[in-house]
Amino acid sequence: MTLPAFRLERPARLADAVRILVAHGPEAMIIAGGTDVVPNLQMKLFSPRVVVDLKPLRELAGIEFTPASGLRIGAMTTLTAIMQSSLVRSKFPVLASAVGTIAGPLQRNMGTLGGNLCLETRCRWYNQSQFWRNALGGCLKLEGDVCHVAPAGKFCWAAWSGDAAPALLALDAEIEITGPAGARRMPLGDFYTNDGMSRIALARGEMVTAIHVPPRMAGRRGVYHKLRIRNSIDYPLAGVAVTMDADAQGVCREARVAVSAVNPAPLLVKEAGELLTGRRPSAELMEEIAHAAISTGKPLTTSASTPVYRREMLKLFTRRALEELWQNGRA
Ligand code: SF4
Repeated sequence: MTLPAFRLERPARLADAVRILVAHGPEAMIIAGGTDVVPNLQMKLFSPRVVVDLKPLRELAGIEFTPASGLRIGAMTTLTAIMQSSLVRSKFPVLASAVGTIAGPLQRNMGTLGGNLCLETRCRWYNQSQFWRNALGGCLKLEGDVCHVAPAGKFCWAAWSGDAAPALLALDAEIEITGPAGARRMPLGDFYTNDGMSRIALARGEMVTAIHVPPRMAGRRGVYHKLRIRNSIDYPLAGVAVTMDADAQGVCREARVAVSAVNPAPLLVKEAGELLTGRRPSAELMEEIAHAAISTGKPLTTSASTPVYRREMLKLFTRRALEELWQNGRA
């Protein structure tokens, strides 16, 4: 489980990082906190010629908020800094809730928001040592020509396994990307391709530099629930993030529901917002939303838990999150 040979670049300026990425294209790989990239390199899932370490770019770290422009979090901000931020905890609780479930304290101290938003997709047939993979003959994603999850197809269903992204989808966030043409922003949902092979929409020379949450989401109630084998440290096997704005009578003014770890991308449950708006809590409505969540989230045999169980947990988490938010709203 040694690292492959590569050249390490530590650019001092963002422009230098972009220049290196442009020069080396697919042979370059970005490293931020390294908590996902390093184990993947040790397992020889990638063999880049150049690794670009973004840690020297201090300007990419920081949390800012103004009532006019909303929240901006730099891509190199650590997960611990986000989790401990009183601003994030008070105004964007769904994000603090989700980030607090990522891995353990050591990984959160090293891991960054940008890294968590760019995690590699995961599958039990892929996240294995080279020895293990060779014994199997690889798979469509690497070293082979068949998908062991869906052998009849030519698509990779490896699961998106991040926790910050569903919370940020529920906050209607935008992602900021910087490349040779400068900085651009896009809705976070458009950043994910829902393809296990090429999970994110970054062009040559581009990197994630920040995330933006609109001002109207400040103070929005929200919560994230996550299924994992080991509660102290694991990747999600299913995750649900919900944000809601409700009036004093419990009538929902706006809600967003997002699911994670059950598709190759984190996905917004599009029908949920429409179904919830203008409605009061009821068991029937929560059941309706829970069913909408499982028509969006489609777990397959990519992980250590069964698809049936993960679907049931998606429903349970969705109902539980809605109940919590409505109860808090009436309190
Ligand atoms: Fe490989 Fe299929 Fe798993 Fe993708 S979903 S990593 S192609 S086994």
